Amino acid sequence: MLLEGKVAVVTGGSRGIGRAIVEDLAANGAKVVVNYHSNADAAQEVVAGIVANGGTAVAIQADVSNFDAAQELIKSAISTYGQLDILVNNAGTTRDTLLMMMKEEQWDVVLATNLKSVFNCCKAATRPMVRRRNGGRIINISSVSGIIGQPGQANYAASKAGIIGFSKSLAKEIGSRKITVNVVAPGFVLTDLTADLDAELVEQSLEFIPLGRWGDAQEIANAVTFLASDKASYITGEVLQVDGGIGI
Ligand code: NAP
Repeated sequence: MLLEGKVAVVTGGSRGIGRAIVEDLAANGAKVVVNYHSNADAAQEVVAGIVANGGTAVAIQADVSNFDAAQELIKSAISTYGQLDILVNNAGTTRDTLLMMMKEEQWDVVLATNLKSVFNCCKAATRPMVRRRNGGRIINISSVSGIIGQPGQANYAASKAGIIGFSKSLAKEIGSRKITVNVVAPGFVLTDLTADLDAELVEQSLEFIPLGRWGDAQEIANAVTFLASDKASYITGEVLQVDGGIGI
């Protein structure tokens, strides 16, 4: 058990990649908080599955784009389990459209959900981690779009690139406290977020992926569990691309 005795919070842990991450952290022995925004049934289903497999999990609702709600989420996690070792900032959304068509609201909601949420949760989690003097792991989920850009995703790519600069800065601020801050940048993975993509675009995307296929959420979770574990004790400020090579 790589993560025995650890406590993890995963934002947006109820569906897609976040769900695979919480399930993998729990399968490796961590007690987990499954954060969700609006779909309580999905979060409860994840919790029930983990508990049925002998793990420990609770669901906590919070809109992590909201500063106060994010502070409450981290507080509730710590009061539930008595500590926090691993924070995975995974919650994310898209409002894809070309810049000339993009409305201010589409920019604001994507930046708030994808980037401000990372600030909100890191701000809430770092002080208790530092005070506990037991190190910690922060893993932020970016995207290949934040590295190479993508037409129709200026808002999304900006938020995901922002996560990288933020994470490298925070890694330098709190490395001396044995808290590592790393980024996982997935390529295309089939989830609710990508389910509506045009079939032709999906087919075309394969041409640009050296491994010739989309990724599976479990493959993203594998990278997160590695970075959360002691096996990654000397890695910080790193961006681990899990993208089949599309971002190289
Ligand atoms: P998804 O299937 O749409 O799931 C999104 C999750 O985030 C849900 O659990 C949702 O909860 C939660 N969420 C959304 N807004 C939230 C908020 N304001 N507060 C708290 N939770 C919120 O998305 P996904 O594809 O798994 O994506 C997960 C992460 O990977 C995102 O950061 C995304 O940008 C990144 N990513 C995905 C891909 C891909 O191809 N899928 C590629 C690169 C990067 P509710 O259901 O309760 O609303």
